[in-house]
Amino acid sequence: MATVIQAYRFALDPTARQQRGLASHAGAARFTYNWGLELVKTRLDQRQTDPRVVVPWNLFDLQREWNRTKDQTAPWWPENSKEAYKSGLDGLARALKNWSDSRAGRRRGRPVGFPRFKKKGRTRDACRFTTGPIKVLPDRKHIQLPRIGVVKTHESTRKLARRLEQGTARIMGATITRTANRWQVSFTVEVQRHLPISKGRTTVGVDVGIRQLAVLSNGAVVGNPRALQHSLRKLRRLNRQLARREPESRRREVTRRRLALVHARAVNLRRDAIHKLTTRLAIEYGTVVVEQLNVAGMVRNRRLARALSDAGVAELRRQLGYKTAWYGSRLVVADRFYPSSKTCSACGWVKAKLTLAERTFTCEACGLRIDRDLNAARNLANLVQHVAQSGWETENACGAGRKTQSAGLVATKQEAGTERSSGGTGIAVPQGAASREIDHSSEARHLSGNGSCPC
Ligand SMILES: [Zn+2]
Repeated sequence: MATVIQAYRFALDPTARQQRGLASHAGAARFTYNWGLELVKTRLDQRQTDPRVVVPWNLFDLQREWNRTKDQTAPWWPENSKEAYKSGLDGLARALKNWSDSRAGRRRGRPVGFPRFKKKGRTRDACRFTTGPIKVLPDRKHIQLPRIGVVKTHESTRKLARRLEQGTARIMGATITRTANRWQVSFTVEVQRHLPISKGRTTVGVDVGIRQLAVLSNGAVVGNPRALQHSLRKLRRLNRQLARREPESRRREVTRRRLALVHARAVNLRRDAIHKLTTRLAIEYGTVVVEQLNVAGMVRNRRLARALSDAGVAELRRQLGYKTAWYGSRLVVADRFYPSSKTCSACGWVKAKLTLAERTFTCEACGLRIDRDLNAARNLANLVQHVAQSGWETENACGAGRKTQSAGLVATKQEAGTERSSGGTGIAVPQGAASREIDHSSEARHLSGNGSCPC
């Protein structure tokens, strides 16, 4: 048994009155965030001339300032739960910490800017509750939040309700968010899970693709759900339409709203498909090998498909990070310089240049002709055998991918063109095997049901 923190997210069906309440709480959180930021900026300015001025920087200090002045600055504050105001200040305290950590070099990743004001309609409406009545009602159709009251859920809460009834889960808090006019609640839950110790020795390499959701090294192709393909087409069309609309026009606003709805749906469909895939991988295989994400190349990519694929790799990696730990398997992340697409999976020859348009990999050394994504997936699977054979360091060498490190291993850099044994796994498989599709509609559903999104 181990305790893990997990999130359960449910879409809500609030009444009109409750919708106003939810929006009011999100607005209150945004208000205190902006109020606190204004205060911090003023105090920082004052400190330029008077070094004795104290600048509130953490949640405790910010809350003390807020409680001292809330009757004057926001006499309407009793309308919302006090949690809403705390939520906004907490967000600000985190943003300030991220900024100072980033400046001092204590934070990885891209530099974090100084917090900016949140503008209504431009930022995501959200509010977090940590105390008070936060419940999942036993009828599995309703939840309860402080001040908001009992809200109907759009989907069954059975996944979480079952755990709560068995006493293997404890709710720590709840966050409400609005995406394209749909309110959702996400419970942060402390869950007691059985962690299996050993698994089979089978290894699978996973290449997350553009045309397909993923290609596995055993030849299985996991396609994108049809509904997602459909949404992507719609998304492209609406994007073009939006570009043609007059700025500030009413029709532009209509298109913008429709685009937001389709986008939200595409994101949900993709996340659902990735959840089903990662659960399946973590349960069925002892070792799962994925590629390192190219974070620098990810930013600002105009190609819709490419951007979505990058987002897919990130999400897949994140989910595999904790799911492999839950199901007792191992995650190996290939180094980002490992040329998984350019290397021949049979003989190890490395192609100098491979464009994205080339769908088939042709080896000039041994003559292997193989689907590009399958070749990459096989290379990833081969990598772990190579690591095991040569007794390589399996610790993270470059420092990237730190988040998943605790859950798995990160293989060290392999030089391009390094000789290695094929291990008998690089022989081309019959065509039939290469096009087997995993059906992720029915059987996987009970494993990663709709309500249990841990993000
Ligand atoms: Zn070859």
